[in-house]
Amino acid sequence: MPRLMETFTIGGMPITALSDGAPERALGGFFNNVDPALWTAALGIKSPDDLVPFNFGVFLLRTEGHTVLIDSGFGPPARAMGAPGGAELPDRLREAGVGLDEVTDIIHTHLHGDHIGWNVVDGKLTFPNATIRVAQKELDFWLNPASGSGDRFDVARAQTVPAQAAGHLETFAGDGEILPGLTAIPTPGHTPGHTSIMVSVQNEHVLIVGDAAHHPVHFEHHDWIPGVDLDPAESSRSRAKLSALAADRDAVVTGGHFPILTLGHVRRVAGGYKWEGINRP
Ligand SMILES: [Zn+2]
Repeated sequence: MPRLMETFTIGGMPITALSDGAPERALGGFFNNVDPALWTAALGIKSPDDLVPFNFGVFLLRTEGHTVLIDSGFGPPARAMGAPGGAELPDRLREAGVGLDEVTDIIHTHLHGDHIGWNVVDGKLTFPNATIRVAQKELDFWLNPASGSGDRFDVARAQTVPAQAAGHLETFAGDGEILPGLTAIPTPGHTPGHTSIMVSVQNEHVLIVGDAAHHPVHFEHHDWIPGVDLDPAESSRSRAKLSALAADRDAVVTGGHFPILTLGHVRRVAGGYKWEGINRP
């Protein structure tokens, strides 16, 4: 059984990682342009078809009067996957002692359906007192009819427009502090306004990378391109920027699609970067 909820601390502040579904998946789609022999070796698996632990993750933390979620999971569509914990985010929050009405802020890394799924269910805001925060550039892209149409756009609009109409949505500029201790790091490419979040407490840092990386090996191979990245060249540059930032700040790095408690540092080595996992019980 995969982990569905665990807490780690940074500078003495707890951050709880919550799963909204933890399937096992074949990950070839995240290494679109790579010889399968290379990426399977990097992951330590034999075949591109081997199933690997995956996660639809959310992070919960508290800062100066705010109870914050980073992303809001896959939502009810995750139930159909049949994966452990699928569409159980509200249950996980209850277990963490947080009522849906106690969440004050939801910060989105981007507006793909697996990161915004609990914002609006059956036309109602799941978190009635929360302000949904998203980069202006990201919101503009998904709400602009000229950007495109189809399922992804429908979901992005369905999960933001009702919140906006109710006065529960605020945008932030590309970079800078969103809430005390939480800084936006623009990491476009996966989507135009994709944002990673740096959590800083007592001069310690956690870097939550959203979908700038779907697996830690992406920090070692910036040009290994997930097929879902809208602008591959830009997403490669964003992974390079994140690796440098993580190394410079000695940040603990994690991401919503990494299995829970996959935490690590990105270290500079000759010719590039190396992921150094943190072993936890
Ligand atoms: Zn995603």
